[in-house]
Amino acid sequence: MELIRRLPRRMPAVSGRIPAISDWAIWRLPRWLTVFVLAVIAANLAAIGVAAPLTTFHGHDFVLYGVLLACTAIAVEWSRRAKEQHGMSKDVQGVWEFPIAILLPPLFALLAPISRLALTQWRVSRAPLHRRIFSCASIGLSYGAASLTFRGLGHLTAGAPGGAVGRDLLWTVMVTLSAVVMSAVNKAIIMTAVKGTNPDVSIRSRVFDHEPLYNDIAEMCIAVLLTYAVAGNIFLALAALPVITLLQRSLRHAQLVIDSRADSKTGLLNAATWEHEAAAEVGRAVRTRSALAVALLDIDRFKVINDTYGHLVGDQVIKEIARTLSSMLREYDLAGRFGGEEFSLLLPQTRAVDAFRIAERVRANVAGLSIIAPGATGGERVHVTVSIGVAALDSGSVRKLNELMAAADAAMYRAKSGGRDQVQMISTTRGLSAISGPGPAETARTGNGGSQDVPSAFRRAQSS
Ligand code: GH3
Ligand code: MG
Ligand code: MG
Repeated sequence: MELIRRLPRRMPAVSGRIPAISDWAIWRLPRWLTVFVLAVIAANLAAIGVAAPLTTFHGHDFVLYGVLLACTAIAVEWSRRAKEQHGMSKDVQGVWEFPIAILLPPLFALLAPISRLALTQWRVSRAPLHRRIFSCASIGLSYGAASLTFRGLGHLTAGAPGGAVGRDLLWTVMVTLSAVVMSAVNKAIIMTAVKGTNPDVSIRSRVFDHEPLYNDIAEMCIAVLLTYAVAGNIFLALAALPVITLLQRSLRHAQLVIDSRADSKTGLLNAATWEHEAAAEVGRAVRTRSALAVALLDIDRFKVINDTYGHLVGDQVIKEIARTLSSMLREYDLAGRFGGEEFSLLLPQTRAVDAFRIAERVRANVAGLSIIAPGATGGERVHVTVSIGVAALDSGSVRKLNELMAAADAAMYRAKSGGRDQVQMISTTRGLSAISGPGPAETARTGNGGSQDVPSAFRRAQSS
């Protein structure tokens, strides 16, 4: 089940003491989100209050409940060394609790996540209390929904004709539908909070991309199998322990693959991955004779920003620029962190003139950023500029990524020596360059020094 990890991470520093209510991190959320979190918790408490007096307790129920909770505790302990990850992470411990929702009265389902999340908080990692309680409530409510779905379907289909095969099929359909309802309720609640905390998050990719969808389906299938197994023989839960631990590890593997491709500071592709993928794109473009361009972007006088505001603000600037790049490029463009304060872009299907315009838009957007550096005066606004060198694949001699990069690098250095905060482009075949930036920026210069509008400079560069 998913837990929110993006809400404010640190508890107020009140050494060794429980923080005062007014210091709780929950009050620092957007107001509607605070109300939403409290409403989910209240709904879960109300559901427990309604379910408790309606529950008839049987000794066998406690045995099954105890065995499944013990398995959950063992699984949490086994995965403890790996720790929880940053961002929103996924674990499969809910697989143990799903049979509780199906086989035991709803009250057990509503209570099931409490001990697991308490154990996670105590043994794995400490999160702000409201986050744990909110996770607990949303998971409890999703189990409650699964429990009601299963019982509701049971009433609807009671007395339906059919032999043993028909009954098995009906049971499988009912349990699977209950698992789908559980997952949908949990996702709807958690994703609302995630989006409220970080509006940039793409819910579509978090929920419907191949990887999360496959993981959810695998988790549901194992939950259904486990439910069937423990309905017949409680102790088969023990046989499921290594299988479910393996599933948990496979999720980590997927996360590690993603991490190994990304630059940890910016989330863009790291240098090695960018180079590998960019080389493949260049090869494809040469084969298919299609257009392609690369750009190298370097932050101007970044050392001064570090020296003036500190390296943390410097990091914030790097992240903001990375975010700007991601938001401005198309899905199939490749944006990478080339090194320290340098970024590399690859734009497939992009002609020189369009690459130049895109680079100019990036330059202007970065120049318009205003990043707040926390300070004694309550925050100072930091402005940055970038110099960009662009090179496009011509029909001429350039056929390799490193040749394109060398041309982009030369253009970038020319942008630096030309006064920074500008885009330069060198035609790899014709030796003509285009330049743009703020002031004289909207003009372009040919390699022999003439000056004119950017588009006409391009027309000359392309036609000469
Ligand atoms: P120029 O306009 O010529 O590019 O000047 P510059 O100051 O940007 O270039 P220089 O190469 O002198 O300095 C780059 C600085 O970037 C030095 C280095 O400490 C800093 N830097 C590199 N990576 C990081 C990082 O990840 N975080 C922070 N805060 N600073 C970084
Ligand atoms: Mg540099
Ligand atoms: Mg620099």
